[in-house]
Amino acid sequence: MTDESEPEPIANPIETELEALYARLDASVAERAPICRISGRCCRFQEYGHTLFLSSIEFEYLAAKAPPPLRPIDDGATCPWQDTAGRCTARTARPLGCRVYFCDPAYEGEAPDLTERFLAELKRLAERHERTWNYAPLHRHLRDWDPSSVDADPITPFGEGPSANSDAQRPGSERVAGFFS
Ligand code: SF4
Repeated sequence: MTDESEPEPIANPIETELEALYARLDASVAERAPICRISGRCCRFQEYGHTLFLSSIEFEYLAAKAPPPLRPIDDGATCPWQDTAGRCTARTARPLGCRVYFCDPAYEGEAPDLTERFLAELKRLAERHERTWNYAPLHRHLRDWDPSSVDADPITPFGEGPSANSDAQRPGSERVAGFFS
C-alpha cells in the first residue's frame, strides 16, 4: 500500500534512459556469455595497460549511485571501487566500458562492436538532453569534477573529516548528489 503522505519520486528521464541502455547492453553481453573469473585485471588499469574512458553522464550516474570508494583516488593506476578480492563495489552504477570488458579470450572480438554500437546510442542520449559528452579517463573525471557546476542538490559527503580542497575531499571521496539523485 502506498503512503499518500510520501509521493512517489518523479523519475529522472536521463537516469531512466541510461538505465534502460545499460540493461540492453548487459543483455547483449549476456547473449555472448563471456566468462568472468574475477581476475580483477579490468580494474587494475596501469598493470594491464588500459584506461577506462567514460562520458560525463556516466560519471555523474556512477558518482551519484555508487557507494563510497574504498580508497583514495590514485593517479590512474586502479579504480577506487575495486575491492581487495578484485570485485567491483559499484556494480549497478558502473559505466559502459566496465560492462563490456571481459578478459575471456573467447569473447575478445565482441567488445569493440558492442562498444561502438552502445557508445553511439549513449552519445545520442547526451545530445537529446543537451548534456556535455566529455569522454575522458575515469581519473580525470574524478579529479576534475566540480560539484558546484551541477544545478541541483547539495553534495552529501561520503565520509567525515578531510579539510576542504584536500585530495580526500575531491570527487571520488564524495557522494555526488547531482543530476541523477
Ligand atoms: S567501476 Fe567497477 S568494474 Fe569499473 S573499473 Fe571500477 S571496480 Fe572495475
